[in-house]
Amino acid sequence: MPLENASFPHTHLLGIEGLKEDEITQILDVADQYVKQNRRTNKKKDLLGGLTQINLFFENSTRTRMSFELAGKRLGADVINMSTSSSSIKKGETLIDTASTLNAMRPDLLVVRHGSSGAVKLLSRKVDCAVLNAGDGKHEHPTQALLDALTIRRRKKRIERLTVAICGDVLHSRVARSNIHLLNIMGARVRVIGPPTLIPSGVEKMGVEVFYNMEEGLKDCDIIMMLRLQTERMHGGYFPTVSEYFSLYGLDYEKLSHAKEDALIMHPGPMNRGVEIDAAVADDLTRSAIQEQVEMGVAVRMACLDILTRSKRGDQK
Ligand code: ASP
Repeated sequence: MPLENASFPHTHLLGIEGLKEDEITQILDVADQYVKQNRRTNKKKDLLGGLTQINLFFENSTRTRMSFELAGKRLGADVINMSTSSSSIKKGETLIDTASTLNAMRPDLLVVRHGSSGAVKLLSRKVDCAVLNAGDGKHEHPTQALLDALTIRRRKKRIERLTVAICGDVLHSRVARSNIHLLNIMGARVRVIGPPTLIPSGVEKMGVEVFYNMEEGLKDCDIIMMLRLQTERMHGGYFPTVSEYFSLYGLDYEKLSHAKEDALIMHPGPMNRGVEIDAAVADDLTRSAIQEQVEMGVAVRMACLDILTRSKRGDQK
């Protein structure tokens, strides 16, 4: 079946958990086409002409919000951004009231980021349009995992049977959770590495191997995903000092030497240089795919906006 007609059985994209392998593959295949479109001088297509996309961000974001904005605009949607600092949420409006108000404006797509796990799902029940989770608390960040998967698949030609290490602050990371789900669904072997205080208890049940030592955990890895220390979600001391954290868990060339020679380095951003990753390693274009991840982000988000509006666009034909 041509990619543009393939069906997708979900109304929203709230998380990776619950998606099937072929549904993830479908998103990645469509995204591959958008990578090509985005590399042309004319990046615009009128696929979503007449549709309205609202980006509703209750938490700060630079790259994710811009990426969704570009994705919507490149597909021809009218895109509006609303963030906490400029909205009535500051004046005390509840999440549900905000959802009902926005719903009355008849958007076709709502992209939502919220500091509480589960808030985006709650909101999706109160509106009539497709909702995309742009990160909810410590829960999920599905488009990040999809863009990571696209980056890996393009570089390594497969995801299945690769060994992927997710390193650092796994406890507070929605990026880690979405990636663990996706990589397991796609048949990769997943490891998490970090200090015991930053590894969630029972994480093995999600299908990962746990390591507390970088040298051991990185051994023979194909992919190294570094995570930002999410200090804004930490209440109390999870590690003694930043310099001690860097010496034990920060990715430098010495630790990198334990992974496969062609192991790919990734980071979802924003990066803390000298905290979770050495600046020279992050900037090493022969090893690091960090800039490529940003590029893939726009293409993956275009694919998600395209796929989630297909039935609606079909109705209008
Ligand atoms: N940008 C990612 C997120 O929103 C990762 C991070 O902030 O560390 O979860």
